[in-house]
Amino acid sequence: MVHPENSDSYKGLVVNAGIEQPASVNPYLARHKKRELSVNDYVEGIVKGDITILSRAVTLVESTRPEHEAIAQEVIEQCLPHSRNSIRIGISGVPGAGKSTSIDVFGLYVLEKYGGKLAVLAIDPSSERTKGSILGDKTRMEKLAVHPGAFIRPSPSAGSLGGVARKTRETIILCEAAGFDKIFVETVGVGQSETAVHSMVDFFLFIQLAGTGDELQGIKRGIMEMADGIIINKADGDNLERARLAAAQFRSALHFFPPSESGWTPQVLTYSGFYGLGIKEVWDMVYGYIDFVKANGYFEHRRREQSKYRMYESINECLRNSFYQNPVVGAMLEEEERKVLEGKHTSFIAAKKLLVKYFDTIRK
Ligand code: GDP
Repeated sequence: MVHPENSDSYKGLVVNAGIEQPASVNPYLARHKKRELSVNDYVEGIVKGDITILSRAVTLVESTRPEHEAIAQEVIEQCLPHSRNSIRIGISGVPGAGKSTSIDVFGLYVLEKYGGKLAVLAIDPSSERTKGSILGDKTRMEKLAVHPGAFIRPSPSAGSLGGVARKTRETIILCEAAGFDKIFVETVGVGQSETAVHSMVDFFLFIQLAGTGDELQGIKRGIMEMADGIIINKADGDNLERARLAAAQFRSALHFFPPSESGWTPQVLTYSGFYGLGIKEVWDMVYGYIDFVKANGYFEHRRREQSKYRMYESINECLRNSFYQNPVVGAMLEEEERKVLEGKHTSFIAAKKLLVKYFDTIRK
């Protein structure tokens, strides 16, 4: 007896003669293909506040194709003068700290109280591994996502942290040119991404939780030096007392840090994103800071320092790419790496050899 799977009469996948696949699933599709936009179309659309065009420009910024990058750079260049007065807030916290819940509530609060338009962007270093990011995902910020004054954009997913951060910075410029005067940049509080976000915002807000040991971790990772405000979330119900205790611990820990360059003393507050408690206090603090640093000149100073930092970052990124994309280097890299692993070369000699070759090729 033949098993059904091996019997011809039971074969599951049979292509019947006479059925031919059409050349195209939808021959009318070509008609609906998006028209290519010129640099001018992009800039005009963005300056008018056209969200569809802004989204397309951001996609262009995020693209890794050289022809897209070239247009994107021109669009950014022309948008720069239209980049209006804005405040940029970095928001960080470990997964589960309540970033999405809080940003949803914070966003609605600032839009209602201060008016204007809000863009929520994100930098997620893990997105490189997971090939796609959930940070900044619209579905996590349900109320804000349907607000006409809000624009939410997930983290760009391709490339190194430096590359992802650059794309977010460029997106900030586009959003500001489109009239978004409040920018939130969200990041996961797990590593280097904070430094990248710190280099592009005016105020850095750290969301912490009570009783998770995060208090001490935060101190270790240098988060305290970067924070302009530490806010303890989930200060509600049974957790209220613990949140207050954590706040007290943070406050006393802050005494051990040198005064910040801005002259501002970082504040520690408790709130509940979920129940909407203490939200006003958080934003009074943020706006209090903005007034303070605008008055003492630090606001402008910090933005200028950030531009300088960006210049060096761009140079570094460009040099790194030029080196690693060099075909001569590419051909040697694996071999040199192997020699180092086998102990035949020191790492210094291998690096030097590669660099000498690289400089030889670019001199030619
Ligand atoms: P994210 O990973 O940092 O974006 O955190 P989420 O905003 O997704 O929140 C993680 C979990 O904490 C969710 O189950 C939220 O409902 C809960 N949560 C967020 N904010 C609060 C709060 O203020 N109080 C309480 N009790 N739970 C909260």
